[in-house]
Amino acid sequence: MSEHLAMIEECGARGVEVKRPSGLDGVHGLIIPGGESTTIGKLIDEYKFESALLELGASGVPVFGTCAGLIVMAARVEGRHGPGLRLADVGVRRNAFGRQVDSFEEDIVVRGIEDEGRPFRAVFIRAPVIEEAGAGVEVMARFGEGVVMAREDNYLLSAFHPELTGDGRIHDYFLRMVRESIGGIGTRRSIKRDSEV
Ligand code: GLN
Repeated sequence: MSEHLAMIEECGARGVEVKRPSGLDGVHGLIIPGGESTTIGKLIDEYKFESALLELGASGVPVFGTCAGLIVMAARVEGRHGPGLRLADVGVRRNAFGRQVDSFEEDIVVRGIEDEGRPFRAVFIRAPVIEEAGAGVEVMARFGEGVVMAREDNYLLSAFHPELTGDGRIHDYFLRMVRESIGGIGTRRSIKRDSEV
């Protein structure tokens, strides 16, 4: 998480860690980080985050799920491990690249980010893959047969960890979504915000 915060600050915005549902009041955007999706699911239950997260997403606030965060946001997870938020209309498979290959890096092309012809060095750590997606989902990057980055309205999803390479273009893209949302373009906002990301 601290890497995400550092990257957000490098990109010129302010980030705060959210530890309780009340911490979501007024945020302009939210990153659900990687880790272990089952653990994140348990924490969401334990700290009673679910309704606040669903409300945040439905109100049009940009939410970016990376790796385990993507799994938590997906509507469908093969062999679902828990309830999940079901925010984004995608189906994912966990640990899609094999458990024996814990992590690897790969240059991928990500559509829509700045200088998109220049590959982005993506770090995959026991990464999921997006196997299927609804009609409203825009594919931004593929690796092999699978989709590894996508967007659906105010939801951004990546199977890899964009915070680990020192390349801020994906966080910049997310911050652009946040700024557009603050400007009220194409959103369904209803909640209060202040200057936090
Ligand atoms: N494999 C993990 C899970 O299923 C995700 C790994 C990660 O976030 N780097 O939750």
